Amino acid sequence: MLKTHNCGELRLSNVNEEVTLAGWVNRRRDQGGLVFIDLRDRWGITQATINAQTAPEAHAAASSVGREYVIQVKGIVRARPEGMVNPDLDTGEIELEVTAIKVLNAAKTTPFEVTGDAKVDEALRLKYRYLDIRRQRMQRNIVLRGRVTKFIRDYLYERGFIEIETPILFKTTPEGARDYLVPSRVHPGKFYALPQSPQQLKQLLMVAGYERYFQIARCFRDEDQRGDRQPEFTQLDLEMSFVEREDVMTLIEGLMTALVEQVSDRELVTKPFARITHKEALEKYGTDKPDLRYGLEMVDISDIAGKSGFQVFLDNVAAGKWVRAIRISGCGNYSRKQLTDLEDLARTAGAKGLAWMALEPGENGQVRSPIAKFFTVEQLAALMDRMGAVPGDLVLISSDTPAIVAATLDTIRREFGERLGLADPKKIAFCWVTDFPLFEWNADEQRWDPSHHLFTSPMVEDIPLLDSNPGSVRGQQYDLACNGYEVAGGSIRIHDRSLQEKIFGLIGLDMEDARERFGHMLEAFEYGTPPHGGIAPGIDRLTMLLAGEPNIREVIAFPKSQNAADLMAGAPSEADAKQLEELHIITTVEASAE
Ligand code: ASP
Repeated sequence: MLKTHNCGELRLSNVNEEVTLAGWVNRRRDQGGLVFIDLRDRWGITQATINAQTAPEAHAAASSVGREYVIQVKGIVRARPEGMVNPDLDTGEIELEVTAIKVLNAAKTTPFEVTGDAKVDEALRLKYRYLDIRRQRMQRNIVLRGRVTKFIRDYLYERGFIEIETPILFKTTPEGARDYLVPSRVHPGKFYALPQSPQQLKQLLMVAGYERYFQIARCFRDEDQRGDRQPEFTQLDLEMSFVEREDVMTLIEGLMTALVEQVSDRELVTKPFARITHKEALEKYGTDKPDLRYGLEMVDISDIAGKSGFQVFLDNVAAGKWVRAIRISGCGNYSRKQLTDLEDLARTAGAKGLAWMALEPGENGQVRSPIAKFFTVEQLAALMDRMGAVPGDLVLISSDTPAIVAATLDTIRREFGERLGLADPKKIAFCWVTDFPLFEWNADEQRWDPSHHLFTSPMVEDIPLLDSNPGSVRGQQYDLACNGYEVAGGSIRIHDRSLQEKIFGLIGLDMEDARERFGHMLEAFEYGTPPHGGIAPGIDRLTMLLAGEPNIREVIAFPKSQNAADLMAGAPSEADAKQLEELHIITTVEASAE
């Protein structure tokens, strides 16, 4: 080794030892006869002191090194003089009195500072990702991620699971996104699909009798990018045989609890995890991934609004639409401008507007609102009572179709969670969401789409409804939400060929197509398939929450940009003509079009 110790390791107990350290120059301070170098490696920082009198050669060398140079220093560990101790550094009680320095590699001036945590343009960070993730905060995140996956592996091995790899070059495994295709050279005109998840393969492992499988699996989905999406991402993919919903949920709840408590410094605020049905989640929070670090629940006021003189409410209630409201504590003094801004925010969620009522501060608070005049005094009092409003509160009201009201008040709720400091990143609030409808109606295509995926089993008692009323069938699905994100989704699967074929039919797959794409699954179900179920928590999102980061790119060593490009290596890139020819591919894009 080119070092005897690391830069975070030396203490007073090492005083007078001769050691060799190697790392990056974090900072250099030149005080004439004395040069101080903060030497950094993965484990920490050690101050190296170079004295012109006692080590003239080393001093000369030290004078010419710059930030991020890679150097090796040899020296004696000394206690720092009194008053020079640095309590912010683990190694702050000692310093290294340097006898020799060797420059292992010089460094150009970096495009942004590696020391500290200055805000840097993201495109630049991604182009020089190796410098970006050299920074301390990013190193902490990447190290945390490794600890998360190791913890998961240990936890699951202790409970009889085994890790099995499944192929990346495979066949379409739909999870609701587009596939990434890989052309085959040896089978002209044919393509592999990269799995959107190992869903089929893990089920086939259950058919094969492995009973408890997991994998830290890469998944590939070609979908439009959003803040918390990447074209490839990592899941803890897991499947168990002979289980019911509760078994999978109990296992995962135990794992997540231990993960938060033992691997992170976050506080778990829902213990045991909250549980809510899909219907309840939409009614209370307007979303199937509610943030339960705070309340701000939606309240149904349609009975009161439906008796007011306000025509919009009257029409909407008569048409079976929703009138729901959220009470925001202490914001009753909002200005016209602030309220207009909120209305603009509501519009981004599809709302036509946002009504408001402010209960003026003071004992006999008056209701200030452009629509107050449409309500009687009693109605206003009933409404404020329903909302639990006290003087100084603001009530925000949305009325439209359930979907629009839900989206609007979800947006408003998240906004105030942030604005009022209720969405505390130190807190972790898990919530199970169950009883999802098995299907969602796809109005564009005029067919039912699976709300989870093709292989989710209906609730046994709802199976008779598959023919008569598919929209009312609930799936044996469970999602895990955390701090407003979906962090896992899973279900008990269909393990019966005829039921699986029936579901294929209901979602409009013709039988020939279904057999071409999933014939191997249907066939497998005829060779002794155990009842089974599983789940797949997203490692990126989970680590992001445990690290308190705002997006998953902060916890991925080499992520893609918002438009799915690798800015460092320049991927995707053009293939040369010979490669395309071997792959039997002709592109319709001019080579220079980019
Ligand atoms: N394959 C599913 C997904 O990726 C998870 C599961 O059902 O286990 O969401």
